[in-house]
Amino acid sequence: MSRVCYRVCQGVRIEPKAEGGHRIVVPGSDRVIQLDSSAVAPLLMVDGWRSTDEILFRFGLSGVSIPQPTLENIIRSLASVGVLEEVETEWLDLEIFPWPEHLCEGCGASCQGHWVGPLQPEFIARTLSRMEGLRKKHPQLVGKKPFVRVSPEDSALYLNSQSGQCLFLDDRMGCILHSEFGAEGKPTICQKFPHVRVEDGHSTRLGVGVQCLKHFKQVLGRQPVASERCWRVQNEKLDGRLYQYFPPRELVGSQDDLLQTVLEAEDGVFAMLHQVVGSKLRPSRADVPRRLESQAMDQLARLEADLREDPMVRSVSTCTGVYPERLRALRALARKDPFTQRVPLPVKSAEPGRTTGRVLVLNDALARFLFLRQTLLYSDLEHAMACFVLGLWVALRLCPPGEEGDEQFGEVLATWHRALQGPSARQALFAEQGDAVRFLGTFLRFWRGR
Ligand code: SF4
Repeated sequence: MSRVCYRVCQGVRIEPKAEGGHRIVVPGSDRVIQLDSSAVAPLLMVDGWRSTDEILFRFGLSGVSIPQPTLENIIRSLASVGVLEEVETEWLDLEIFPWPEHLCEGCGASCQGHWVGPLQPEFIARTLSRMEGLRKKHPQLVGKKPFVRVSPEDSALYLNSQSGQCLFLDDRMGCILHSEFGAEGKPTICQKFPHVRVEDGHSTRLGVGVQCLKHFKQVLGRQPVASERCWRVQNEKLDGRLYQYFPPRELVGSQDDLLQTVLEAEDGVFAMLHQVVGSKLRPSRADVPRRLESQAMDQLARLEADLREDPMVRSVSTCTGVYPERLRALRALARKDPFTQRVPLPVKSAEPGRTTGRVLVLNDALARFLFLRQTLLYSDLEHAMACFVLGLWVALRLCPPGEEGDEQFGEVLATWHRALQGPSARQALFAEQGDAVRFLGTFLRFWRGR
């Protein structure tokens, strides 16, 4: 199985110019191409492993938004003058992880609170040809554009989610395109959600991302592990353009050791905290829960300052469904709204040795987070783990003890990771030097002492 990527042609030289910008020298041609720095950046990512979608994703990580058509124009024009070439890149071996497969519960969360796109031309053409028929059967589509542009400089089209949720999401949280035309009727991004696929120079990894609000139920329900064949079929079904690529140089060996530590531990969070900050702890007489509360609330205030600037977050907060509801509760906690339910923190069961639903959900979420290399979306391992643990603190604060709260717990934890899907939200947290390690240290003291 392979995918289409781009690479710089053999012998092409990209040279910086003294007066700024770059020139590209193509071998066997006296042509010299002048490029300003903004056009060079994507070029440096064209390494034969990335599709245009992956290059866009990577720029998004660093907060740079390049309209897809612009990137495709740069690549097409450089390919036409012999600077770049298209290559069929084989997928690396699929590394299988023993997890239950994903069974969608149709909670609608994947269709709320984000822009779905850039959409592929073939999906747009196909759906436009169906709109007349769809509007006859689904009055909520009448007078509404199925696709929109999300910014004036980006001519790419996205599903119309101006209300905070996708236009095709019906009142029963089902997808109209799926109910009318099957899974293929949806954009490939929707067919892929909530799966995350990463390539890291060693293997291809596929699993259910921590942003799915219901997958934890497969774990709580102790669903059987999916077969290797099941994951291979899932991998082949996914659009070859959709994956995250982390070059081997970015991989820090300690992360796979950490994953092993978490998998072998009854309490994965405790094992992770110990490995990441155990050796950095200094003696302290501080009132741990009080210090934890102030550190956590300080970071949540920074996150809320970022979230409230996002028009999509404001829109989805007016929608119905489990994700909008959990997001409202998270934001109310961050704003210290007086009526927010605040629950005492202990989670360990009275019966030593019995792994509670929450510890099961936590171990699973942490393992998925590590296995799918989601730590690489953060500045470093401490930053990633501090954000993960702050999400745990929020879930502990919002969810009542006992089985009834276990369901909420899994949903709040996933909602937390949805709220951090944008790079600015992640960068808003633990931005000061040492903040992440301090918070992890305090949390380790709390977790150990509870
Ligand atoms: S097309 Fe369907 S699955 Fe995709 S976001 Fe819209 S409602 Fe959800």
